[in-house]
Amino acid sequence: MKIAFIGLGNMGAPMARNLIAAGHDVTGCDPVATPDDIPMAATNAEAVKGADVVITMLPNGDILSAVSAEIHPVMQKDAVHLDCSTVDVQSARNAAQSAEKYGLLSVDAPVSGGIGGATDGTLTFMAGGSDAAFAKVQPLFDIMGQKAVHCGPSGNGQAAKICNNMILGATMIATCEAIALADKLGLGRQEMFDVVSTSSGSSWSMNTYCPAPGIGPKTPADNAYTPGFAAALMLKDLRLSQQAAAAVGADTPMGARATEIYADFVELHGMGGMDFSAMLPHLAEKSRS
Ligand code: NAD
Repeated sequence: MKIAFIGLGNMGAPMARNLIAAGHDVTGCDPVATPDDIPMAATNAEAVKGADVVITMLPNGDILSAVSAEIHPVMQKDAVHLDCSTVDVQSARNAAQSAEKYGLLSVDAPVSGGIGGATDGTLTFMAGGSDAAFAKVQPLFDIMGQKAVHCGPSGNGQAAKICNNMILGATMIATCEAIALADKLGLGRQEMFDVVSTSSGSSWSMNTYCPAPGIGPKTPADNAYTPGFAAALMLKDLRLSQQAAAAVGADTPMGARATEIYADFVELHGMGGMDFSAMLPHLAEKSRS
């Protein structure tokens, strides 16, 4: 396929490389990143000309809207705009409407799996869009990822992503505060892990991404909390969950509290560049106020 890839940052560049390695004809564009192993166009409009699929991997919904306005009028009819960025549900639905106006197909497919998953081609895609659009990009999901779930119409990929990450933020905090409490009760972290990881308190945060160094599988905790998944990105996703909850009148008390706790961690304590599991040393140092 002829593919344009717009936004070649931490995630986009390795995803584009996997498409090139699989034999696709990829042209990239990014105003800042200049990877020398990906053919680049000077402008987004130039990159998308004649492309069967245009993939965007951008920081937020405003930038997605601006890029959509640049590229949709010049994309070839029936091409697919596949947006893999994490953005608010409304921006995703607006981008889909704009694509439809220009006779294009579109899919919103945010990812889970981080930079490691992007590099290894093991991302999970949560996709929203028509059956026809999903079918057209499925072979690309198979290259860049290990699983793609079609979640329904446009915007539903973003809805799935923020619901998942709202659970993740809350369970990571709950896991970290329980380990910090166990420390203070004199319960060893290894024993705590052995019990919880095989009991009803188990979760991905404890079992697969254990925030305690030296315990369980190898995680960012074993690498001085280098991300992994940066706390700033967790805060971004939690805020998107609260924006979406407000828009539909959903009560999400745990999501709201998790957002406050990560906002404090990132903005007051300057920990945005650390892995989000660095919540453990942060909570372990604190005492009850
Ligand atoms: P990044 O900031 O490294 O990359 C974004 C790129 O978009 C940058 O290189 C930037 O120059 C480019 N860009 C900005 N404006 C542009 C424009 N108008 N035209 C073309 N390119 C433009 O971010 P990232 O870590 O690669 O994340 C990308 C998206 O994936 C975000 O929405 C993020 O929330 C999501 N995500 C990231 C991770 C992660 O671990 N990094 C995990 C899951 C999802």
